[in-house]
Amino acid sequence: MKIPVLDLKPQYQLLKPEIDQAIANVLESTQFVLGPEVKLLETEIADYLGVKHAIGVNSGTDALIIALRALNIGIGDEVITTSFSFYATAESISLVGAKPIFVDIEEGDFNINSSQIKDKITSKTKAIMPVHLYGQPAAMTEILTIAKEYGLKVIEDCAQAFGAVYYGDCLGCHQSCEDSQRQNLTQKYVGGIGDVGAYSFYPTKNLGAYGDGGMIVTNNDDIAELAKMLRVHGAKKNYHNELVGYNSRLDSLQACVLRVKLKYINQWNEARRNIAKNYNHLLANNQNIITPNISKGHVFHQYTIRVKNGKRDELKEYLAKNDIGSMIYYPIPQDQLPVYQEKYQPNPITMKLAGEVLSLPIFPELSLERVTEVAQIINSFNT
Ligand SMILES: *Cc1c(COP(=O)(O)O)cnc(C)c1O
Repeated sequence: MKIPVLDLKPQYQLLKPEIDQAIANVLESTQFVLGPEVKLLETEIADYLGVKHAIGVNSGTDALIIALRALNIGIGDEVITTSFSFYATAESISLVGAKPIFVDIEEGDFNINSSQIKDKITSKTKAIMPVHLYGQPAAMTEILTIAKEYGLKVIEDCAQAFGAVYYGDCLGCHQSCEDSQRQNLTQKYVGGIGDVGAYSFYPTKNLGAYGDGGMIVTNNDDIAELAKMLRVHGAKKNYHNELVGYNSRLDSLQACVLRVKLKYINQWNEARRNIAKNYNHLLANNQNIITPNISKGHVFHQYTIRVKNGKRDELKEYLAKNDIGSMIYYPIPQDQLPVYQEKYQPNPITMKLAGEVLSLPIFPELSLERVTEVAQIINSFNT
């Protein structure tokens, strides 16, 4: 493709001396699993996000699974989540033996519709798992308010949203803050808002490693301790295993790459927001598509338009013919995947948007010239 949906090469070329050196240092140290590099990354990410604990694990999926286990969620429990996400979200709930309960999305932001959560709460409900889809924070104030009222835990799936900032009325209400503190709590990185946040460092994410990786973040000491045990076979002390855990450690080669990249993440997220603004501007007069809102704090992991009149697949083909990549995230809602064998009633807005969404090329190094070219080709379709 002349303009691929994602190109990781320019970023590596830019950082090559720094990354190659960091990798060489780890090779020399021969400390390959956890070790000092992972510890440093954990501290740096905890500082960046403003959370007390950050625990490196094998993947974003493992971060979700371990977060659920650390909250004692398992067989017989229900966890409320969005029907519109990558399957790892629901899969983590199913893997710990709990049942995912799917809530429809908000048409304007692709995220869980918080006004429909209460209807799905039962005596078995233990937690709510919002996803900050495409890099846009979900309605955390509303979600935390419901969680508090019903005594539920909140696990944030932040896989697509490293560096995303949530602007809410009062995030402190969940932590029973004083009125005078509220103003200070109106702006927060995602992940540290609920009880636990789960991040992915899969190479294509906003903060991507050169292999698999993930991180659990929390302000709660007990959750952090359990998560640390669960990632190393349920042991606090070697050979004194107390829980059935996992082998889910972050390796030092990934950590050293992430430490180099972390320094640039705000700059890259800003570049993504600029690309989104440019697309929106260039596509503003196109009657056949709906462009996304550039809401505050959105880090545009994906720039996703909606194509009207059932023309999405046709437009995708047209772009491909013009050597432009695009992706459909996601063609089938999680709850309608074959794995759930038609056990769930489809959610109408999710179904509609699954048929309309199209994600366009976006990565920090994508030039305005290329963005303009993509937009021009879209505007030349069907007119
Ligand atoms: C990527 C992703 C995950 C899983 O992360 P991995 O590191 O690939 O395991 C989970 N949830 C969402 C929304 C994702 O996009």
